Amino acid sequence: VKSYLGQIEKNAHLNAFNGVFGDEALQRAKEVDNRLKNGSAGKLAGMVIAIKDNICYKGHKVTASSKILSNFESIYSATIVERLLAEDAIIIGRCNCDEFAMGAANETSYFGPVKNYADHTKVSGGSSGGSAVAVQANMCHAAIGTDTGGSVRQPAAFCGTIGFKPTYGRISRHGLIAYASSFDQAGPITRSVEDAALLLEVMAGADEYDSTASAKPVPAYAAGLEKSTGKKKIAYLQESISSPGVDQEVKNVLSRTIDKLRAEGHSVTPIAFEYLDYLVPAYYILVTAEASSNLARYDGVHYGYRSPAATDLLSTYKRSRSEGFGKEVKRRIMLGTFVLSAGYYDAYYAKAQKMRRLIQEKTNQIFDEYDFILMPTAPGPAYNMGNVEADPVVSYLADIFTVQASLTGSPAISLPVGNNTDGLPLGLQLLAKHFNEQELLNFSKYFM
Ligand code: GLN
Repeated sequence: VKSYLGQIEKNAHLNAFNGVFGDEALQRAKEVDNRLKNGSAGKLAGMVIAIKDNICYKGHKVTASSKILSNFESIYSATIVERLLAEDAIIIGRCNCDEFAMGAANETSYFGPVKNYADHTKVSGGSSGGSAVAVQANMCHAAIGTDTGGSVRQPAAFCGTIGFKPTYGRISRHGLIAYASSFDQAGPITRSVEDAALLLEVMAGADEYDSTASAKPVPAYAAGLEKSTGKKKIAYLQESISSPGVDQEVKNVLSRTIDKLRAEGHSVTPIAFEYLDYLVPAYYILVTAEASSNLARYDGVHYGYRSPAATDLLSTYKRSRSEGFGKEVKRRIMLGTFVLSAGYYDAYYAKAQKMRRLIQEKTNQIFDEYDFILMPTAPGPAYNMGNVEADPVVSYLADIFTVQASLTGSPAISLPVGNNTDGLPLGLQLLAKHFNEQELLNFSKYFM
């Protein structure tokens, strides 16, 4: 804990943390040491973990990197936090992220952007940028992020770490600050597949506080981890090699990986995904619709910031929300409200729901034939700061590879596959059939 606290201090300029629980973590470390001595320590004894600042931890601030929650303190802990603590994890702090997890560069945070440790002029990725940089710069052992459309996987790729989004419903969402409830899923950001497996095992499972959390038994993922030996059938997206929108060095690493897999006897087949162009539009219509509804609760009355200029009920709502939310969040509330509004609902929201179903069916068909789908995590490496502000649509489009697993609820993992010629990390992503986490983790070991 001391060494990680030292790293956090030394790297404060990266802006990865919104809050550090130094004394408390040291105190807990002593308690865990004692339990280790008397043989009663949990599975995560000694593991120092950072959590994204949209995960509730009783008695600690949770801000979602928004002004509207900048002084809000959790009155209960998320189920995942309870489970991590019960196994003797030590939580060292809460990590910066995009405001309400909306973004892909960690540039929409009220507390400022997070810098990539590999190159301070580049973004960390997002929305769990702080969590990824905390692992990248050795400020903790592992971090927990949340992934709605890529927010664990894409920053992990930009920061050279592993980012794992389990099947929707594998992990309880109770105590996560909601962005888009039918997409949100927590996931570990780690340096090893072993840690990802162990953290999943601890966090997963049914929860009476989240009816969408699956009752499927939780396998002992860590003990079950073995480098897979069988020959696999892998599909990869043809467009990820042929599209001019994908960075050449990303294409190169993907091609090399495909060659290596083939050389070792796996079958690797290019596929065309006919709905590729609909992934991003369907995703952004649905998540903004859900977000506009989820964020209605920040009314200046129930939670967080209340405008000092408010004079009556209506101005409390209007001013608190106008002053409390940032630009990107407002953009999404307006977009979501629009696609849900009378007269446009059928044209946008209902249509996007149908699209989601078609995307799910088509993806299932692929998994009837193949074990995994391989694709880049992002079209390119971490980019310069300031791009998102310049054109949000360009940033939305860069989510092309991560949103498929989010629309379908499939488990997906981003694996670090080395650096480009500028020294920036690159990641590749594997998707698997629902609840095939064990197979996905086992095959991931192959890449490490
Ligand atoms: N970049 C995507 C978005 O802004 C994903 C964010 C996330 O997964 N939380 O919606």
